[in-house]
Amino acid sequence: MTDLATERPDLLDPRLVDRLVNAVAAGPDAPRQHVVAPFTGEPIAAVPVSTPADVEQAYVLARAAQREWARRPVRERAGVLRRLHDLVLDRQSLVADVVQLESGKARRDAFEEIGDVALAARHTASVAPRLLRTRRRAGIAPLVTRGYEVRHPKGVVGIVSPWNYPFTLAISDALPAFAAGNAVVHKPDTQTVLTALLGRALAVEAGLPEQLWQVVVGPGPVVGTAVVEGADHVAFTGSTRTGRHIAAEAGRRLVGVSLELGGKNPMLVLADADVSRSVEGAVLGCFANAGQLCVSSESLYVADEIYEEFVGRLVERVRRLRLGPAMDYSADVGSLSSAEQLTKVTAHVEDAVAKGATVLVGGGPRPDLGPWFFEPTLLSGVRPGMLAADDETFGPVVAVYRFTVEDEAVAAANATPYGLNASIWTRDTRRGVRLAKRLHHGAVNVNESYRAVWGSHELHLGGMKASGLGRRHGSEGLLRYTEVQSVAVQRVHGIHPPPWMAYEDFARYMTRYLRASHRGRRG
Ligand code: NAD
Repeated sequence: MTDLATERPDLLDPRLVDRLVNAVAAGPDAPRQHVVAPFTGEPIAAVPVSTPADVEQAYVLARAAQREWARRPVRERAGVLRRLHDLVLDRQSLVADVVQLESGKARRDAFEEIGDVALAARHTASVAPRLLRTRRRAGIAPLVTRGYEVRHPKGVVGIVSPWNYPFTLAISDALPAFAAGNAVVHKPDTQTVLTALLGRALAVEAGLPEQLWQVVVGPGPVVGTAVVEGADHVAFTGSTRTGRHIAAEAGRRLVGVSLELGGKNPMLVLADADVSRSVEGAVLGCFANAGQLCVSSESLYVADEIYEEFVGRLVERVRRLRLGPAMDYSADVGSLSSAEQLTKVTAHVEDAVAKGATVLVGGGPRPDLGPWFFEPTLLSGVRPGMLAADDETFGPVVAVYRFTVEDEAVAAANATPYGLNASIWTRDTRRGVRLAKRLHHGAVNVNESYRAVWGSHELHLGGMKASGLGRRHGSEGLLRYTEVQSVAVQRVHGIHPPPWMAYEDFARYMTRYLRASHRGRRG
């Protein structure tokens, strides 16, 4: 595929669109659905919609491709990921254009996705050969039994992904699945299909067999359900509500499932925090991708001693944020992604204000910039019973709270059904790590908002409580796509008494052996 320049920044080259949508698993006469650009509200492409029968056929093709792919050496499969790493960085301008046009995000948020996919490709390619190789394991007795742990691919992984980080969430979970020898049937959110298709096209250019990654399009309850019904493992990213539904279906079929779900993420600013640094941390942690980020902070707990200074400086900083539909790096914050998002975010702010909260900065839509822009907003006086306190807003709306003692902040940070991401700001990093261990969140960043954990692919990423099941990144991000097989080779006599020995004597010898070997292991 060549880089196709866009003549108008708000449109995609039709040749590129045609090439991408041709890869959707759908019949030639499939009905089409428009993808709309949030910056303008105008359609930019019409994508074919798949049927459950198309999904079934996609599984047939994926299964056939998987058999051949799984026979290739791991290093060869990892090589495709290494080439993809370079391609994604080389084509970053095109990727960022497509991501911005479909999702309405600022270019800096689009770049974050590009960087993350490169990191995911590099990490997966480097750990896969070690994690997937057959390992020797101790048998019941040394020299007598020799154990091996063998990793097999699951088969075909069903991936269902959302619209908010359409490039990284489409690709980062697929790469370890491929490295482990699987095929993928993937349903991205319809609003951001082109981005997923572009990721697939780049992977094919990097050497991935065409049929190994099937993309299907359509409504979640129909096409998403068909994906879950055919999968050997399901990797889902989206809302907790849909996640519960998918987990139930996977449970019924007894297939594995990993779920990356919603969050209500706290940021704790302790009295000894560097105020300038934590204000910048709050801007990134609260308003990256206009707050439409699963790991972004919506609850800001600030120590009493620095509350006035911190909030005053944060309000000033938020006022200076540049909003707009810029296709370059000049805007700090982009648009919300859809009319539904605008309705929801507006409702959260109006509900809070009606129930007594105060708007410190922002608070309303910006139709002068585009149909779905909303101002970065700070609220104080938010209390339980308000939507902004109890539910995930998934927008640029943050509640600021004051605390006096550390225990109070820990209790508040844990008082949510979710447990995805937290951040702690302090000059005393040991205290930060101590405090982190008391938080019921799968990721805790000390003196960083979310990128420190998210970008460190050696670390696992995922949620506790209602924020998910399983982990991406780390070793788990790859091993979840494998089936473990145990092989034991018995080298001498079997584990039963020889014909001439009474079972009582065998039991006595075995008891002696178990006691002795236990003592040996205790040292
Ligand atoms: P959503 O659950 O509505 O949709 C996500 C995907 O699931 C879409 O592709 C959708 O079409 C599909 N889907 C919907 N209903 C389905 C069904 N019944 N069966 C199968 N598939 C179905 O979520 P959303 O509103 O699009 O995304 C935002 C949510 O995702 C937020 O809650 C956010 O926190 C969460 N999220 C989590 C992470 C994470 O890593 N933990 C990352 C990004 C987003």
